[in-house]
Amino acid sequence: MKRLFILIVAAALALSLCACGEREPEGQDGRLSIVTTVFPAYDFARQVAGDQAKVTLLVPPGAETHSFEPTAQDMRRIQSCDLLICNGGESEVWLETLLAGQETEIPSLVMLECVDALEEEIKEGMQETEEEGEEDETEYDEHVWTSPVNAQRICRAIAEALADRDEEHGDLYRANCEAYCEKLAELDAAFRAVVEQGSHSTVIFADRFPVRYFVEEYGLDYFAAFPGCAEDTEPAAGTVAFLIDRVREEQIPAVFYIEFSNEKMADVICEDTGCKKLLFHSCHNVTADQLKAGISYYELMLGNVESLREALA
Ligand SMILES: [Zn+2]
Repeated sequence: MKRLFILIVAAALALSLCACGEREPEGQDGRLSIVTTVFPAYDFARQVAGDQAKVTLLVPPGAETHSFEPTAQDMRRIQSCDLLICNGGESEVWLETLLAGQETEIPSLVMLECVDALEEEIKEGMQETEEEGEEDETEYDEHVWTSPVNAQRICRAIAEALADRDEEHGDLYRANCEAYCEKLAELDAAFRAVVEQGSHSTVIFADRFPVRYFVEEYGLDYFAAFPGCAEDTEPAAGTVAFLIDRVREEQIPAVFYIEFSNEKMADVICEDTGCKKLLFHSCHNVTADQLKAGISYYELMLGNVESLREALA
């Protein structure tokens, strides 16, 4: 018995040593290389791939996603990756041009194509810039990930795309995916419960509004200061007055601002009405510290559950 035990320990030790010896430098270790453009794509890819892939995020933490321009190194990364996961839409026109110019097709997954896309909406009271008003081409709202239901659809599409590229680990990708989707389903249930328990169903974004998919998912009505991808977020008197009226009429206890906001619009409204301002994180991008700490879409959205609870009280 004792000898058998020693043998097993020795075998286990040999195996673990062997595994260490096989490790090669990052990027040349036979793992898949996945390049992602925006934070949600990065998080979903990381959750689904686990340790089996090297996942790169192109848009730097804290950077303005809509005006992102790839560096020469970014271009090389895209050209040599096993899978590109991008968002699609207006902010990634640069990518369409790059992909169209390739001799060999770069395997890619577009998040906007994984879901039922919604057209961009200009809602009553929203402060528009001129260019936005002049466009008559149909434009899709690109912030598809803000619905946790869409997030699950995207994760499952990622799992299948990875399994296609690396069949050997297909079951692992699917298992990782289902584990994360379970958390996303809990998140979804939590939002539904909050909406059901709320004493009203209108939210006010005293800010840009990149969360149309979210409000549609939960049947919330909304008013917002600026479109989701607006450049200019200086409060105009008319917009301020309109939103203040909405806060008073609907007796809204709290208005939202989003991450990386100047919070000016929210401050003006709060000062005038006495309501609170709360962060609703759209998960568009995170800070360098958050990225370093490994913060996830799930964690950021969990914070939104509490914000929403307060705003619907
Ligand atoms: Zn955006």
